[in-house]
Amino acid sequence: MIPAIDIHCHYNSGSVFDTKTDNCYRADTEFLKSERKRLNIRACAVSSFSSVISDKEICECNSALFSLVDRDEFFYQWVVVDPRNDETFVQAEKMLKGDKVLGIKIHSVYHGYSVTDYADKIFSFAAELDAPVLMHPDHITETAKIADDYPRMKLIIAHLGGEEWINAIKNSRHKNIYTDTSGAASSANNVIEFAVSSIGSDRILFGTDTYSCAFQRGRIDYADISEADKENIFYKNAAELFGCLEKIL
Ligand SMILES: [Zn+2]
Repeated sequence: MIPAIDIHCHYNSGSVFDTKTDNCYRADTEFLKSERKRLNIRACAVSSFSSVISDKEICECNSALFSLVDRDEFFYQWVVVDPRNDETFVQAEKMLKGDKVLGIKIHSVYHGYSVTDYADKIFSFAAELDAPVLMHPDHITETAKIADDYPRMKLIIAHLGGEEWINAIKNSRHKNIYTDTSGAASSANNVIEFAVSSIGSDRILFGTDTYSCAFQRGRIDYADISEADKENIFYKNAAELFGCLEKIL
């Protein structure tokens, strides 16, 4: 099994804003870890569900996760920011100095703002700190255009799901736009294959978004793409983008 890095995942932190779980869907860290280890996924970069579902407890969630990644070598952190909440920026600036914090996560859709209104604020901050931004897809084409003004900033547009993602990467002036394969959208029956044939595999990262690892990993393992492309997607691109991940391979 090709080793993999799960670049996009969420877990329940015990908050009232957690996602609903039951016997058929789990989001506790023990389960996430054991399932990934079984499938040769060597590390998992997370933000808590509550910090992306709600804008009410972002700082508390970031702090709790910062302790978790310090305790548990398997997990890495996305620090969540809300551009309307300056405290999250102060916190992110401090946390990004930690060697297990990969970058900044934004979720404009659940937090309830339009990403185009705040893209300059977020991207200039990220560029300054050399922090990649993991963005829940929102106004993809417009946001990608704004990213052209920040060549040092790397933007990962999550949940590869169609030509809009592929065109954003293709048209990116500084090749600083990436995507991840996490989520149900990658079940479209030619999306991975068409993306690789259009833009190559250098800017596609593997993730699960807390969907079944068997399903997410199988989509890449059995995709109609070369072995070299699979290795790029599963771990090589992530290890290149985030130097701290190289050691876990
Ligand atoms: Zn997500």
